[in-house]
Formats: sequence, C-alpha cells, structure tokens
Amino acid sequence: MQTDLAIIGSGIVGLSCAFHLQRQGARCLLIDPKGAGQGASFGNAGAISFGNIFPQATPGVAWQGLRMLLDADAPLKLDWRVWPEWLAWLRSFVRAGDARQVERAILALHAINLQSRAAWLELAEAIGALDLLAENGYLHVYSEAANFSADAWKRRWFERLGIRHRVLDARQLSTLEPALGAGFSHGVLQEDSLGLRDPGGFCQRLADALKRQGAETLPARVHDLKRAGRAYVLSTDHGEIQAERVLVAAGVHSKPLLAPLGVKLPIIAGRGYHRMFPPQAGLLRRPTLWIERHIVLSPMRTGMRLAGLKELTRADRPPRHSYLERRITDARRLCPGLIGEPTDPWFGDRPVTPDSLPIIDALDEGRLLIATGHGHLGMTQGPITGRWIAGLAAGSGTCLPLAPFAVRPWEPLNNPSLRGA
Ligand SMILES: Cc1cc2nc3c(=O)[nH]c(=O)nc-3n(C[C@H](O)[C@H](O)[C@H](O)COP(=O)(O)OP(=O)(O)OC[C@H]3O[C@@H](n4cnc5c(N)ncnc54)[C@H](O)[C@@H]3O)c2cc1C
Repeated sequence: MQTDLAIIGSGIVGLSCAFHLQRQGARCLLIDPKGAGQGASFGNAGAISFGNIFPQATPGVAWQGLRMLLDADAPLKLDWRVWPEWLAWLRSFVRAGDARQVERAILALHAINLQSRAAWLELAEAIGALDLLAENGYLHVYSEAANFSADAWKRRWFERLGIRHRVLDARQLSTLEPALGAGFSHGVLQEDSLGLRDPGGFCQRLADALKRQGAETLPARVHDLKRAGRAYVLSTDHGEIQAERVLVAAGVHSKPLLAPLGVKLPIIAGRGYHRMFPPQAGLLRRPTLWIERHIVLSPMRTGMRLAGLKELTRADRPPRHSYLERRITDARRLCPGLIGEPTDPWFGDRPVTPDSLPIIDALDEGRLLIATGHGHLGMTQGPITGRWIAGLAAGSGTCLPLAPFAVRPWEPLNNPSLRGA
C-alpha cells in the first residue's frame, strides 16, 4: 500500500493535524488501531484552558515532589515497578524547574495558547461541532486563603500577559456557581477558556468530517517505522505501507516509534483517571478545578466527569482506579449536589515532557513530522498544533516561535541526517 501522508495516531493532535494538512491538499491516511479519539483524547476533563500557561515544574519542585511521595492523597504517583522509566525523566523535570527555564516555558505556553482559542473555534465551526463547546470559562477554586495568596505570582503573569481573568471571593463564587460547596474562600475564573462537553465525541465528528473530505482510515497498529530512500515504510497489523511523508502523533506511543530513527523524545506516560456521575440538573456549569485537592469536575453531555491524578508509569501497566476512588468524597465536597455513585472508571496516558512544552517539529526536509508531548494541555493545544504542523509541512515559516517546541536540544538527535545535516 502506498500513500502521500501517513498519520500515526487519531487523537485530537493527529486529527487536528490531518484537518489542516488536508486543507493544504494532502491525501491523508489515518492509522490507529482503536479508531478516532479513543486514547487520552477520549476521557480528559475537557477544559480548553488558554490561561494554563504554567509548567508543571516550578522552583522548589524537588521538595514539593518529595513531600507528595509521603502523602497518600497527593496527585503525583510513581509506579515503582517502572522506576528506570521515570528516574531520568524526573531529573530533567527538576532541572526544568529552574527559574529561568520556567519563565521560558511560561512565555512559550502563552505563545501557543494565545493562538489556540481562534484555532479551536475555527475547527469546531468547520466540522459543525460548536454545540459541544461552552463559552463560560474555566474556574479554579481555593479552600485555603494561604494558597490563594501563594499563587499571586500566577495572577501577576496574567496581568503582565493580558490574560483575561476574574478574581472572586466566597460570595462572588457562590453567585457564579450556586452548586459549589461551602468553604471555598477564593476563585479565579479564566474567562476566555472553553468547556468541551464530549472530548471523544468531538474527535469522532472531526474524523467523520475528514473522511467526508477524502481521508482514508486504517484500523491498525504501526509496529515499526523505517526510512527507505526518500520515503518511509510502516509495518502494520495489515502489512507494509510506503509513505512519502509521515506524521507521528501517537501520544505517549510516539516515543518507541521514533527511537529506532534516532529521535529520542523526552516523554513519559502521566496517567490520569476519570469517573462519571449521572446527569442531573443544577450542578456546576463549567469545568472547576479544586486547587488543593487537584481534582476537576467538568460537566459533560453524559453527566459530571470527575478527573485527576498523574501517575508516572508505562503505557502497558495496569491502571490503579483506587487512586481516584479516594477522591470521590472530595468531589462531593466540591459539589454537594452530586447524587448517585460514579461509574465508568477510565484512565488515559498523557504524553508529558519535563518542561511541559509539546514537541512540534519537522525533520528530514519535512518528510517526518512530529506532534506529541502535549501533557496536560493536549485538548487545548491540539487544533493550533494542527495549524502549525501544516505550516511546517508547507515550509511556510508559520507565524510562531517554533524553537521551544522543536525536538529538545538536550535530547540529542542521534540521527543528524534527519535535520538535513
Ligand atoms: C484525566 C485527564 C484529564 C485531562 N484533562 C485535560 C483538559 O482538561 N484539558 C486539556 O487540554 N487536556 C487535558 N488532558 C490532556 C489531553 O487529554 C492529552 O494531552 C491529549 O488528549 C493528547 O492527545 P494525543 O492526540 O497526543 O494523544 P491520544 O489521544 O492518546 O492519541 C494517540 C493515539 O495514537 C494511537 N496509537 C498509539 N500507538 C499507535 C501505533 N503504534 N500505531 C497507530 N496508532 C497508535 C492511540 O490508539 C491513540 O488513539 C487530560 C488528560 C487526562 C488523562
């Protein structure tokens, strides 16, 4: 089988890239064994959050991390069975918490998020999915006034970068969200953020739109990716495919696919979990993050989604749903009106990088495209990534500061010929 452009992975990132590449005239073959939006893009919290410009690693992260390891309720978990996987990653993560690196990451995240809102609305409108978006912001709530004060540096960044937000006291919080529990002293509303009411459903609609425009799909796993002359050969469950160009957008699985080509990606699985409370009226109206407990409640079409946790692990390891089970009591404190038992335990692997920046790059004279590592913000940044990848593929020197998102300089490219050297 031969194709112009093979896209490995049909999560929000691969599909958004396909959308923009197809607009440029590319004939796309979408390859994914599970179909569209069945990986991390299925069960996330749906906060399309343009104000989340802060990397996970900040100054003092090493001490915070150590404290978290001693706290059973902390959001960060380490899967001890796979310690070699995360040890090197954690070292880079701690280095990324250096103040200068953090500032660089904030500016880069702002640069990508700044263009993300328009990219989201354009994509949702083009595929007739605006009904899945709620334009009422993303709310962060604090139960401890001291933590609200400690986060003042974040609000200073908001001011400096012009990120629209509203600071709320307890009374204003209960006016904005009458279903919010008692005991929340402060809140910050990121006013421009969006709530996606069905992340998996959005991906499916996008895939359907791509197919209507001529994209082909292949329900197969790519086992191996090789360079053969000026093309690429993909070994899949359904035989070999020869592609003029390849886009690797397989989330956390991008790393093993690219390693044999000499591209060493600094990503690891940051596993998160969700459960669904049954649909009912009168609950929270927008995605709401409880800062101290690190949980999000997010209204979905099919009920209220409780999401959270970050477990550094390997994609083939079994899930530990008990981590989120411990947070159900917290969910009821955040929104006391929740009734019924949450069902449908789900987990997904975020492709996380040490500096929280995605990897968006074109190697081998644009024949090998890479889009992964979006970590906690892949739903937010998927559509703009698609636009940028299409710009890179066209060699149009897109309108963006791409350098921070290139394959990282500290992860040497073991195959310099891919850079055209
Ligand atoms: C609990 C949780 C909550 C989150 N909340 C938010 C949020 O509120 N806002 C936000 O912006 N982000 C959020 N995220 C992050 C976001 O979901 C991810 O960053 C994003 O979905 C990553 O998209 P992706 O397309 O890179 O990966 P995925 O969606 O994982 O897609 C990768 C695809 O590649 C396929 N694949 C893998 N290997 C192969 C192979 N060898 N051959 C072919 N196909 C392959 C997989 O089947 C999969 O479909 C959350 C994540 C989690 C887990």
